[in-house]
This record gives sequence, C-alpha cells and structure tokens, in this order.
Amino acid sequence: MTDFAKETALEAGAELVGFTSHGDEQVVVLGYPGNGCIDLADLDKKAGMVARRFEELGFESRVISSRNGGGASLRMLAEDAGLGFVGRSGLLITSEYGPRVRLSAVATSAPLATDKNHSVADGCRGCGICEDACPSKAITHRSVEMCRAHVDSQADGRCTICVDVCPYPR
Ligand code: SF4
Ligand code: SF4
Repeated sequence: MTDFAKETALEAGAELVGFTSHGDEQVVVLGYPGNGCIDLADLDKKAGMVARRFEELGFESRVISSRNGGGASLRMLAEDAGLGFVGRSGLLITSEYGPRVRLSAVATSAPLATDKNHSVADGCRGCGICEDACPSKAITHRSVEMCRAHVDSQADGRCTICVDVCPYPR
C-alpha cells in the first residue's frame, strides 16, 4: 500500500512524498518545488486525485487543504513525514529545494508505513540568516502577526526574504 501511495502521489505531480499519522488517520504529505507563484487550489486538486485513488480501493480519504490545514499544520506533518525540518524561519526546509517548497496532504484510513527518506538531519545549525534579514523581526519574536502586518504593508502583498536568503539546499 505504501508503494501504491507513493506512485500515486508522484503521478499526481508531487516531487516529494512522505507518510505520517495524525490522530487515527494516516497522512500522505506531498511536496512540490516552488514558492508563492504556485496555485494552492491546484495543489489541493492534486491531493484530491490521490484521495480518490484511495477511495476507489475502499479507504476513507480527505484532502488536508494547502490553504488551511484544517487544524493540522502541514509543515509539522511534513517534518513528521520526513520531508525535511521546520527551520528557524518557521518554514519547512527540504534537502532538495530548501524552503522553496509547497505542501498538500491527504488523510486516509489506508495502512501506510511511515518513512524518513527525505529527512535533512542536521537542521539549521543556528545560521540565523533569515532572522537577521527579516524586516519585521517576526522571526525573532516568533510572531505570525508581525509577519502578516509586514506582508500586508507591501505594495504587492508579498515578502519572500526569508525564503530567498536561506542557504538550503546547500
Ligand atoms: S515573510 Fe518577510 S516578514 Fe515574514 S518572516 Fe519572512 S522575511 Fe520576515
Ligand atoms: S536561513 Fe538559516 S536559520 Fe533560517 S531557516 Fe534557513 S538554515 Fe535555518
């Protein structure tokens, strides 16, 4: 079943795949290279393709939305599934794409073995480059609100500084 899930996720367009559990459910986490340019609704569509394949086999399945994790943190699920680690910036850092990765996930009753094939073992090593570069000091204060206020103040409503400066992948 784990191989089936992995193949199905890759067929749906994911480039990173891992498995973990959340409550009573198993979770397939899908990673896609890119940053803010990716259409999040499209990621949910890809996850929906995986969910339907599980349902065809008789397993209950649902998409954990890329836009709103539905109570689950996609980054934490991705870390648990071995796709990478949550860095000082609060972003998921992968060995393949650094923080330039987007996530979606599927929760299912299908039996899946967890694996950690994509883990980045050594973490940030305290490099702190993102923290020094963050114009709002949101990383220093671990404040989503400070980050959001800065993003909202930008003419284009974007800030990718912490993504751009992260040295991963090394
Ligand atoms: S998006 Fe910008 S403001 Fe928010 S944490 Fe990253 S660098 Fe700081
Ligand atoms: S810039 Fe450095 S401290 Fe920040 S997330 Fe990347 S590796 Fe970690």
